[in-house]
Amino acid sequence: MATIDVLTEPLVTGVKITGESKTMHALVFHGPGKQSWEEKPLPGILKPTDAVVRITKTTICGTDLHIMKGDVPEVTDGRILGHEGVGVVEKTGSAVTNFKKGDRVIISCITSCGKCDYCKRGMYSHCENGGWILGHLIDGTQAEYVRIPFADNSLYHIPEGTDEEALVMLSDILPTGFECGVLNGKVQPGSTVAIVGSGPIGLASLLTAQFYTPAEIIMIDSDDNRLEVAERFGATRTINNSREDAVEKVKAFTAGRGVDTAIEAVGIPATFELCQSLVAPGGIIANIGVHGKSVELHLEKLWAQNITITTRLVDTVSTPMLLKTIQSKKLDSKKLITHRFKLNEILDAYATFGNATREKALKVILTNE
Ligand SMILES: [Zn+2]
Ligand SMILES: [Zn+2]
Repeated sequence: MATIDVLTEPLVTGVKITGESKTMHALVFHGPGKQSWEEKPLPGILKPTDAVVRITKTTICGTDLHIMKGDVPEVTDGRILGHEGVGVVEKTGSAVTNFKKGDRVIISCITSCGKCDYCKRGMYSHCENGGWILGHLIDGTQAEYVRIPFADNSLYHIPEGTDEEALVMLSDILPTGFECGVLNGKVQPGSTVAIVGSGPIGLASLLTAQFYTPAEIIMIDSDDNRLEVAERFGATRTINNSREDAVEKVKAFTAGRGVDTAIEAVGIPATFELCQSLVAPGGIIANIGVHGKSVELHLEKLWAQNITITTRLVDTVSTPMLLKTIQSKKLDSKKLITHRFKLNEILDAYATFGNATREKALKVILTNE
Protein backbone atom coordinates (compact mmCIF):
# COMPACT_ATOMS: atom_id res chain seq x y z
CA MET A 1 0.00 0.00 0.00
CA ALA A 2 1.28 3.42 -0.88
CA THR A 3 2.12 5.83 1.90
CA ILE A 4 -0.52 8.20 3.13
CA ASP A 5 0.09 11.87 3.84
CA VAL A 6 -1.35 12.49 7.27
CA LEU A 7 -2.83 15.91 7.89
CA THR A 8 -1.17 17.63 10.80
CA GLU A 9 -3.94 20.17 11.35
CA PRO A 10 -6.83 19.26 13.62
CA LEU A 11 -9.71 17.81 11.66
CA VAL A 12 -13.01 19.58 11.60
CA THR A 13 -16.17 17.60 11.12
CA GLY A 14 -19.55 18.67 9.87
CA VAL A 15 -20.47 21.35 7.44
CA LYS A 16 -19.34 24.83 8.30
CA ILE A 17 -20.13 28.16 6.79
CA THR A 18 -17.22 30.22 5.50
CA GLY A 19 -18.65 33.47 4.25
CA GLU A 20 -21.29 32.62 1.66
CA SER A 21 -19.94 29.25 0.53
CA LYS A 22 -20.59 26.05 2.42
CA THR A 23 -17.82 23.50 2.69
CA MET A 24 -17.45 19.90 3.72
CA HIS A 25 -14.63 17.43 4.34
CA ALA A 26 -13.63 14.72 1.91
CA LEU A 27 -10.88 12.22 1.14
CA VAL A 28 -9.00 13.73 -1.78
CA PHE A 29 -6.56 12.00 -4.14
CA HIS A 30 -3.41 13.99 -4.98
CA GLY A 31 -1.55 11.54 -7.20
CA PRO A 32 -0.15 8.07 -6.42
CA GLY A 33 0.52 7.60 -2.70
CA LYS A 34 -0.88 11.01 -1.77
CA GLN A 35 -4.26 11.60 -0.23
CA SER A 36 -5.67 13.89 2.44
CA TRP A 37 -8.84 14.54 4.41
CA GLU A 38 -9.51 18.14 3.51
CA GLU A 39 -12.03 20.89 3.06
CA LYS A 40 -13.87 20.96 -0.27
CA PRO A 41 -16.84 22.95 -1.57
CA LEU A 42 -20.21 21.37 -0.89
CA PRO A 43 -21.53 19.70 -4.06
CA GLY A 44 -24.60 21.23 -5.66
CA ILE A 45 -27.18 20.27 -8.27
CA LEU A 46 -25.58 20.68 -11.72
CA LYS A 47 -28.30 19.00 -13.80
CA PRO A 48 -32.04 18.52 -13.18
CA THR A 49 -31.48 14.74 -12.89
CA ASP A 50 -28.95 15.11 -10.01
CA ALA A 51 -29.40 14.55 -6.30
CA VAL A 52 -27.07 15.54 -3.48
CA VAL A 53 -26.79 12.89 -0.78
CA ARG A 54 -25.43 13.36 2.75
CA ILE A 55 -23.27 10.29 3.36
CA THR A 56 -24.05 8.39 6.57
CA LYS A 57 -21.90 5.30 5.89
CA THR A 58 -19.24 4.55 3.30
CA THR A 59 -16.38 2.10 2.81
CA ILE A 60 -13.05 1.61 1.05
CA CYS A 61 -12.76 -0.75 -1.91
CA GLY A 62 -9.78 -2.65 -3.32
CA THR A 63 -10.27 -0.43 -6.37
CA ASP A 64 -9.47 2.63 -4.23
CA LEU A 65 -6.14 1.00 -3.33
CA HIS A 66 -5.47 0.46 -7.06
CA ILE A 67 -6.16 4.17 -7.60
CA MET A 68 -3.78 5.08 -4.75
CA LYS A 69 -1.06 2.96 -6.37
CA GLY A 70 -1.51 4.88 -9.62
CA ASP A 71 -3.08 1.94 -11.54
CA VAL A 72 -6.08 4.03 -12.68
CA PRO A 73 -4.55 7.00 -14.51
CA GLU A 74 -7.92 8.61 -15.39
CA VAL A 75 -8.25 9.61 -11.73
CA THR A 76 -6.80 13.08 -11.53
CA ASP A 77 -5.32 15.21 -8.75
CA GLY A 78 -8.06 16.69 -6.58
CA ARG A 79 -10.60 13.90 -7.10
CA ILE A 80 -12.70 12.80 -4.11
CA LEU A 81 -12.51 8.98 -3.98
CA GLY A 82 -15.17 6.37 -3.13
CA HIS A 83 -18.01 4.70 -5.02
CA GLU A 84 -19.89 2.91 -2.24
CA GLY A 85 -22.14 4.15 0.53
CA VAL A 86 -25.54 4.92 1.97
CA GLY A 87 -26.99 8.26 2.99
CA VAL A 88 -29.86 10.70 3.13
CA VAL A 89 -31.06 12.75 0.17
CA GLU A 90 -30.31 16.40 0.85
CA LYS A 91 -31.41 18.05 -2.42
CA THR A 92 -32.88 16.92 -5.72
CA GLY A 93 -32.91 18.42 -9.20
CA SER A 94 -36.23 19.34 -10.79
CA ALA A 95 -36.36 16.19 -12.95
CA VAL A 96 -35.87 13.70 -10.08
CA THR A 97 -39.19 12.00 -9.33
CA ASN A 98 -38.32 8.83 -7.37
CA PHE A 99 -36.55 10.56 -4.47
CA LYS A 100 -37.07 13.57 -2.23
CA LYS A 101 -35.19 15.34 0.56
CA GLY A 102 -34.93 13.11 3.63
CA ASP A 103 -35.13 9.77 1.79
CA ARG A 104 -32.58 7.20 2.99
CA VAL A 105 -30.79 5.66 0.02
CA ILE A 106 -28.21 3.15 -1.18
CA ILE A 107 -25.78 4.64 -3.69
CA SER A 108 -24.93 2.30 -6.56
CA CYS A 109 -21.29 2.23 -7.66
CA ILE A 110 -22.65 2.36 -11.23
CA THR A 111 -24.38 5.53 -12.43
CA SER A 112 -26.98 4.87 -15.13
CA CYS A 113 -29.17 7.17 -17.19
CA GLY A 114 -31.76 4.45 -17.87
CA LYS A 115 -32.28 5.80 -21.40
CA CYS A 116 -29.28 4.92 -23.56
CA ASP A 117 -28.94 1.78 -25.64
CA TYR A 118 -26.80 -0.03 -23.04
CA CYS A 119 -29.12 0.91 -20.18
CA LYS A 120 -32.10 -0.40 -22.18
CA ARG A 121 -30.25 -3.73 -22.38
CA GLY A 122 -29.58 -3.75 -18.62
CA MET A 123 -25.89 -3.15 -19.20
CA TYR A 124 -25.69 -0.17 -16.86
CA SER A 125 -21.93 -0.58 -16.50
CA HIS A 126 -21.56 0.71 -20.05
CA CYS A 127 -24.16 3.50 -19.77
CA GLU A 128 -23.17 6.10 -22.37
CA ASN A 129 -23.80 8.85 -19.83
CA GLY A 130 -22.57 7.13 -16.69
CA GLY A 131 -21.08 3.74 -15.81
CA TRP A 132 -18.39 3.64 -13.15
CA ILE A 133 -17.78 7.37 -12.77
CA LEU A 134 -18.12 7.93 -8.99
CA GLY A 135 -14.76 8.41 -7.31
CA HIS A 136 -13.23 7.89 -10.75
CA LEU A 137 -14.25 10.56 -13.26
CA ILE A 138 -16.43 12.61 -10.88
CA ASP A 139 -16.20 13.17 -7.11
CA GLY A 140 -17.17 10.17 -5.00
CA THR A 141 -18.62 9.02 -1.71
CA GLN A 142 -15.70 9.26 0.74
CA ALA A 143 -17.01 12.67 1.75
CA GLU A 144 -19.71 14.24 3.86
CA TYR A 145 -21.80 14.93 0.74
CA VAL A 146 -21.83 13.61 -2.83
CA ARG A 147 -23.59 14.59 -6.04
CA ILE A 148 -25.28 11.63 -7.73
CA PRO A 149 -26.12 12.09 -11.44
CA PHE A 150 -29.24 10.32 -12.79
CA ALA A 151 -30.46 9.88 -9.24
CA ASP A 152 -33.70 8.14 -10.26
CA ASN A 153 -31.74 5.21 -11.70
CA SER A 154 -28.61 5.29 -9.58
CA LEU A 155 -30.07 5.32 -6.06
CA TYR A 156 -32.21 2.72 -4.25
CA HIS A 157 -34.62 3.35 -1.37
CA ILE A 158 -33.62 1.83 1.97
CA PRO A 159 -36.59 -0.05 3.40
CA GLU A 160 -37.59 1.02 6.92
CA GLY A 161 -35.80 -0.91 9.65
CA THR A 162 -33.08 -2.43 7.44
CA ASP A 163 -29.55 -2.43 8.84
CA GLU A 164 -27.69 0.26 6.89
CA GLU A 165 -24.24 -1.25 7.46
CA ALA A 166 -25.36 -4.41 5.70
CA LEU A 167 -26.64 -2.32 2.80
CA VAL A 168 -23.28 -0.65 2.13
CA MET A 169 -22.29 -4.07 0.75
CA LEU A 170 -24.97 -3.56 -1.94
CA SER A 171 -23.22 -0.57 -3.52
CA ASP A 172 -20.61 -2.75 -5.16
CA ILE A 173 -19.28 -5.99 -3.70
CA LEU A 174 -22.45 -8.08 -3.50
CA PRO A 175 -23.70 -7.32 -7.02
CA THR A 176 -20.12 -7.68 -8.32
CA GLY A 177 -19.55 -11.08 -6.72
CA PHE A 178 -23.00 -12.22 -7.78
CA GLU A 179 -23.25 -10.87 -11.35
CA CYS A 180 -19.65 -11.25 -12.53
CA GLY A 181 -18.96 -14.49 -10.61
CA VAL A 182 -22.13 -16.45 -9.88
CA LEU A 183 -24.48 -15.39 -12.71
CA ASN A 184 -21.82 -15.29 -15.43
CA GLY A 185 -20.35 -18.52 -14.04
CA LYS A 186 -23.80 -20.19 -14.27
CA VAL A 187 -23.55 -21.79 -10.84
CA GLN A 188 -26.18 -24.53 -10.62
CA PRO A 189 -27.61 -26.99 -8.07
CA GLY A 190 -25.13 -29.82 -7.62
CA SER A 191 -22.40 -28.12 -9.65
CA THR A 192 -18.80 -27.60 -8.56
CA VAL A 193 -17.32 -24.15 -8.04
CA ALA A 194 -13.80 -22.93 -7.27
CA ILE A 195 -13.31 -19.32 -6.19
CA VAL A 196 -9.74 -18.08 -6.51
CA GLY A 197 -9.31 -15.23 -4.03
CA SER A 198 -11.01 -15.07 -0.63
CA GLY A 199 -11.10 -11.28 -0.27
CA PRO A 200 -14.36 -9.33 0.06
CA ILE A 201 -15.35 -9.92 -3.58
CA GLY A 202 -14.51 -13.64 -3.54
CA LEU A 203 -16.45 -13.95 -0.29
CA ALA A 204 -19.39 -12.07 -1.84
CA SER A 205 -19.37 -14.70 -4.61
CA LEU A 206 -19.20 -17.44 -1.99
CA LEU A 207 -22.23 -16.06 -0.13
CA THR A 208 -24.35 -15.54 -3.24
CA ALA A 209 -23.31 -18.81 -4.96
CA GLN A 210 -25.16 -20.56 -2.13
CA PHE A 211 -28.51 -19.29 -3.54
CA TYR A 212 -28.05 -22.11 -6.08
CA THR A 213 -26.89 -24.91 -3.74
CA PRO A 214 -23.82 -26.08 -5.68
CA ALA A 215 -22.35 -29.38 -4.42
CA GLU A 216 -18.88 -27.96 -3.84
CA ILE A 217 -17.55 -24.45 -3.31
CA ILE A 218 -13.77 -24.62 -3.03
CA MET A 219 -12.06 -21.43 -1.84
CA ILE A 220 -8.42 -20.87 -2.80
CA ASP A 221 -6.23 -18.18 -1.21
CA SER A 222 -2.79 -17.81 0.35
CA ASP A 223 -4.09 -16.26 3.60
CA ASP A 224 -5.17 -18.74 6.30
CA ASN A 225 -7.35 -16.19 8.07
CA ARG A 226 -9.37 -15.50 4.93
CA LEU A 227 -9.78 -19.23 4.33
CA GLU A 228 -11.08 -19.66 7.90
CA VAL A 229 -13.60 -16.91 7.19
CA ALA A 230 -14.57 -18.71 3.96
CA GLU A 231 -15.20 -21.91 5.90
CA ARG A 232 -17.48 -20.04 8.30
CA PHE A 233 -19.28 -18.49 5.32
CA GLY A 234 -20.07 -21.87 3.75
CA ALA A 235 -17.07 -23.02 1.68
CA THR A 236 -17.12 -26.80 1.45
CA ARG A 237 -13.33 -26.95 1.12
CA THR A 238 -10.41 -24.54 1.32
CA ILE A 239 -6.96 -24.69 -0.24
CA ASN A 240 -3.99 -22.55 0.79
CA ASN A 241 -2.14 -22.32 -2.53
CA SER A 242 1.00 -20.94 -0.90
CA ARG A 243 1.70 -24.42 0.45
CA GLU A 244 -0.70 -26.76 -1.37
CA ASP A 245 -1.00 -27.64 -5.06
CA ALA A 246 -4.40 -26.15 -5.89
CA VAL A 247 -4.74 -27.99 -9.22
CA GLU A 248 -3.96 -31.36 -7.69
CA LYS A 249 -6.34 -30.83 -4.78
CA VAL A 250 -9.22 -29.53 -6.92
CA LYS A 251 -8.83 -32.54 -9.25
CA ALA A 252 -8.88 -34.83 -6.20
CA PHE A 253 -12.11 -33.19 -4.93
CA THR A 254 -13.84 -33.47 -8.34
CA ALA A 255 -13.06 -37.04 -9.47
CA GLY A 256 -10.26 -35.73 -11.69
CA ARG A 257 -12.57 -33.45 -13.74
CA GLY A 258 -11.98 -29.95 -12.42
CA VAL A 259 -14.79 -27.52 -11.62
CA ASP A 260 -17.85 -26.47 -13.59
CA THR A 261 -17.26 -22.84 -12.57
CA ALA A 262 -13.88 -21.24 -11.82
CA ILE A 263 -14.32 -17.70 -10.47
CA GLU A 264 -11.28 -15.43 -10.68
CA ALA A 265 -11.50 -12.85 -7.87
CA VAL A 266 -7.94 -11.51 -7.66
CA GLY A 267 -6.91 -9.88 -10.97
CA ILE A 268 -3.33 -11.05 -11.53
CA PRO A 269 -1.94 -13.33 -14.29
CA ALA A 270 -1.13 -16.22 -11.89
CA THR A 271 -4.69 -16.53 -10.60
CA PHE A 272 -6.28 -16.33 -14.07
CA GLU A 273 -3.86 -18.99 -15.29
CA LEU A 274 -4.77 -21.11 -12.27
CA CYS A 275 -8.44 -20.90 -13.30
CA GLN A 276 -7.48 -22.25 -16.74
CA SER A 277 -6.04 -25.33 -15.01
CA LEU A 278 -9.06 -25.76 -12.69
CA VAL A 279 -11.93 -25.61 -15.19
CA ALA A 280 -13.54 -28.91 -16.26
CA PRO A 281 -14.47 -29.66 -19.87
CA GLY A 282 -17.69 -27.73 -20.58
CA GLY A 283 -17.01 -25.37 -17.69
CA ILE A 284 -16.87 -21.59 -17.34
CA ILE A 285 -14.12 -19.28 -16.20
CA ALA A 286 -15.89 -16.21 -14.80
CA ASN A 287 -13.47 -13.35 -14.39
CA ILE A 288 -14.13 -10.69 -11.75
CA GLY A 289 -10.59 -9.45 -11.08
CA VAL A 290 -9.42 -6.04 -12.31
CA HIS A 291 -6.42 -6.92 -14.48
CA GLY A 292 -3.61 -4.47 -15.08
CA LYS A 293 -1.41 -6.86 -17.08
CA SER A 294 -1.98 -9.19 -20.02
CA VAL A 295 -2.51 -12.84 -19.21
CA GLU A 296 -1.40 -15.92 -21.11
CA LEU A 297 -4.32 -17.82 -22.59
CA HIS A 298 -3.50 -21.55 -22.92
CA LEU A 299 -5.49 -22.29 -26.05
CA GLU A 300 -3.07 -25.13 -26.81
CA LYS A 301 -4.80 -26.93 -23.92
CA LEU A 302 -8.24 -25.32 -23.90
CA TRP A 303 -9.17 -25.27 -27.60
CA ALA A 304 -10.96 -28.63 -27.39
CA GLN A 305 -12.35 -28.29 -23.85
CA ASN A 306 -15.73 -26.63 -24.67
CA ILE A 307 -15.10 -23.97 -22.07
CA THR A 308 -16.41 -20.42 -21.85
CA ILE A 309 -14.57 -17.39 -20.51
CA THR A 310 -16.69 -14.46 -19.33
CA THR A 311 -15.74 -10.93 -18.35
CA ARG A 312 -17.99 -8.25 -16.90
CA LEU A 313 -18.04 -4.93 -15.13
CA VAL A 314 -20.84 -5.09 -12.58
CA ASP A 315 -24.13 -3.76 -13.96
CA THR A 316 -25.85 -3.60 -10.54
CA VAL A 317 -29.03 -4.95 -12.17
CA SER A 318 -29.30 -7.48 -9.34
CA THR A 319 -29.31 -4.86 -6.57
CA PRO A 320 -33.11 -4.90 -5.99
CA MET A 321 -33.10 -8.71 -5.76
CA LEU A 322 -30.10 -8.78 -3.43
CA LEU A 323 -31.75 -6.12 -1.25
CA LYS A 324 -34.74 -8.45 -0.77
CA THR A 325 -32.47 -11.32 0.29
CA ILE A 326 -30.83 -9.07 2.91
CA GLN A 327 -34.20 -7.81 4.12
CA SER A 328 -35.51 -11.37 4.50
CA LYS A 329 -32.25 -12.36 6.26
CA LYS A 330 -31.45 -15.01 3.66
CA LEU A 331 -28.20 -13.17 3.01
CA ASP A 332 -26.14 -11.83 5.92
CA SER A 333 -23.88 -9.30 4.25
CA LYS A 334 -22.96 -7.61 7.53
CA LYS A 335 -20.55 -10.40 8.36
CA LEU A 336 -18.17 -9.05 5.71
CA ILE A 337 -17.54 -6.02 7.96
CA THR A 338 -14.47 -6.35 10.19
CA HIS A 339 -13.56 -2.77 11.13
CA ARG A 340 -15.44 0.42 11.95
CA PHE A 341 -14.18 4.02 11.95
CA LYS A 342 -15.62 7.52 12.01
CA LEU A 343 -15.57 9.12 8.56
CA ASN A 344 -12.97 11.68 9.72
CA GLU A 345 -10.66 8.78 10.68
CA ILE A 346 -10.55 7.66 7.06
CA LEU A 347 -6.75 7.88 6.77
CA ASP A 348 -6.47 5.34 9.61
CA ALA A 349 -9.07 3.22 7.83
CA TYR A 350 -6.97 3.30 4.63
CA ALA A 351 -3.90 2.22 6.62
CA THR A 352 -5.86 -0.71 8.10
CA PHE A 353 -7.46 -1.76 4.80
CA GLY A 354 -4.12 -1.37 3.00
CA ASN A 355 -2.61 -3.92 5.43
CA ALA A 356 -5.56 -6.29 5.14
CA THR A 357 -3.60 -9.48 5.85
CA ARG A 358 -1.92 -8.18 8.99
CA GLU A 359 -5.09 -6.43 10.20
CA LYS A 360 -7.39 -9.33 9.20
CA ALA A 361 -9.50 -6.74 7.41
CA LEU A 362 -12.34 -7.45 4.99
CA LYS A 363 -14.68 -4.47 4.73
CA VAL A 364 -14.28 -1.33 6.82
CA ILE A 365 -17.28 0.90 7.59
CA LEU A 366 -16.87 4.66 7.95
CA THR A 367 -19.73 6.38 9.73
CA ASN A 368 -20.67 10.06 9.46
CA GLU A 369 -23.42 10.80 11.97
ZN1 LIG B 1 -15.86 -0.95 -4.82
ZN1 LIG C 1 -27.44 4.88 -19.89
